Amino acid sequence: MGKNITEEIEKLKKERNAIILAHYYQPDEIQEIADYVGDSYYLSEIARDSVENIIVFCGVKFMGESAKILSPNKTILMPSLDSGCAMADMINEGEIIEFKNKYKDAYTVCYINSSATVKAHCDVSVTSSSALDILNSIENKQILFLPDRNLGEYIAENFKEKEFILWDGCCKYHNNIKINEIYELKEKYPNSKILVHPECQKQIRDIADYIGSTAGIINYATNNDYKDYIIATEEGILYELKKKNPDKNFYIPGGSISCVDMKKTTLNNLYDTLLNMKNEVILDESVSKNALKCLENMHSLAK
Ligand code: SF4
Repeated sequence: MGKNITEEIEKLKKERNAIILAHYYQPDEIQEIADYVGDSYYLSEIARDSVENIIVFCGVKFMGESAKILSPNKTILMPSLDSGCAMADMINEGEIIEFKNKYKDAYTVCYINSSATVKAHCDVSVTSSSALDILNSIENKQILFLPDRNLGEYIAENFKEKEFILWDGCCKYHNNIKINEIYELKEKYPNSKILVHPECQKQIRDIADYIGSTAGIINYATNNDYKDYIIATEEGILYELKKKNPDKNFYIPGGSISCVDMKKTTLNNLYDTLLNMKNEVILDESVSKNALKCLENMHSLAK
């Protein structure tokens, strides 16, 4: 489109009384135009509490699904409805049922990066920013955690008195970060701080100065006076980091970590979605009802 597409999107957004939500891993121009940018936990709260009835969710499928579960009467649109999360797809309904059958007395905790169908079989969902608070409120000794073994392992390290049985899934982008790539950056920038997402492997977490969610990483860099930071997570986070900290330096191990699915949102498909009111997230009612308990427990236990 020849005319300024961002102006057209703004205009359509007002006409439709819609809001745009974007995850920190979305492309820069999408974060720029969004009304709210944040991590999964923050965005799930905004989706639940917004007064607008149309939410355009720029992220991956499980995020749009979570918004729909929390707000069944709102219209949730996704510019790239086919953006999956490879980690969320590492467990399906049959597998969660079988997993639970093996450990009948366990409490089942799923990372928010899981499908609505899987959430419908779980007791509570967690995000990387809320996981430790939520686990603190759970009395059960035996915990099934899925699908991310790295986040599960990190949580388990903080709750030694509990027995964690972990599903063997991971995010290929975080799991593939190499320790040598971090050492190389550390050698170049010896005063840098290493900020790590808990989806990374243990050997990476073990050399971190800080471990936390995307929002946690942004807060750490913003609230500290150090100049250089090594950022072990998806590079979309750099947009907000640089915006909040124009005088600081941020380095991604290996030069680039880019989630293909997160980058499927474009200004063009965002515009097209709003113009044609297409790509609506539709969920089976009973799945949605059961998955709601899991997300409501997340919000109440995280307090
Ligand atoms: S970065 Fe990893 S966990 Fe996040 S959406 Fe992409 S594949 Fe899923």
